[in-house]
Amino acid sequence: SIAYLNGEFLPLAEARISPMDRGFLFADGIYEVIPVYGGTPFRLDEHLTRLERSLAEIQLAAPLARADWPALIDTLIRKNGGGNLSLYLQITRGTAAVRDHAFPPPGTPPTVFAMASPMSAPAADSPDTTAGVAAITVPDIRWLRCDIKSVSLLPNILMRQRAVSAGATEAIMLRDGLASEGAASNLFIVHDGTVITPPKDHLILGGITRDLVLELCAAHNVPYREAPVTEANLRGADEIWLTSSTREMVPVVNLDGQAVSNARPGPVWRRVARLYVDFKRHLCGL
Ligand code: PMP
Repeated sequence: SIAYLNGEFLPLAEARISPMDRGFLFADGIYEVIPVYGGTPFRLDEHLTRLERSLAEIQLAAPLARADWPALIDTLIRKNGGGNLSLYLQITRGTAAVRDHAFPPPGTPPTVFAMASPMSAPAADSPDTTAGVAAITVPDIRWLRCDIKSVSLLPNILMRQRAVSAGATEAIMLRDGLASEGAASNLFIVHDGTVITPPKDHLILGGITRDLVLELCAAHNVPYREAPVTEANLRGADEIWLTSSTREMVPVVNLDGQAVSNARPGPVWRRVARLYVDFKRHLCGL
């Protein structure tokens, strides 16, 4: 596959960065993942807004003007043959002369990297045949700026691995009695027909998919609320969903070894998943 690195397109296997890159030394950088359907990036504007916000929050100057990202992304999509892709973008605070925690001298160029990987069909594409996944709960061991899409993902990696080792797909995090989100996804529950998701604050990543799901609920009169989800709410939920750009909406049918309702994707999930697929197909001309 073809990657982009600091102004150049080149085969991914030939892309090289220095071990003095602050991304390597400190995980001093941020990233984005943008889904591409039929060669068209999905919700690009929203992803670029979040990218710029992450950069601003870590005081890293944007390496490209907002108007220049779409052309770079389109070129990368074309060079990778279009189709359904997961487009990964990472920006770090560049290569340091010495390993020092403080920012490098002004003018140090950031490292800008992008790649595209093939993306398989998500669960929402087949709402009638999707089986759903198992999840486990884990303590949320992260810092207090989970709203920044930082490449510093060690807690998320440890939590996801715990899920995988337990034969589950995702880890749902609990902090101070509240369920926050998945290791790489946002959390929704359904209670008595109402869709509930935790509010966007410093304790979760504001998901692009999360926002779209709420938009679709609003547009189609599906009752919803942004409100804290307690551990008891989670365990007593009629439905549990996880959302992310690459997996869209995934129903959780088993939590910590216990069936969620009848261990099948619920009716509210099916309804909103259909809305999601219709919206996606329409927007991307599929
Ligand atoms: N929360 C976390 C911790 C994540 O890593 C992700 C996916 N990167 C999400 C939520 C979902 O965000 P999005 O819908 O923008 O992919």
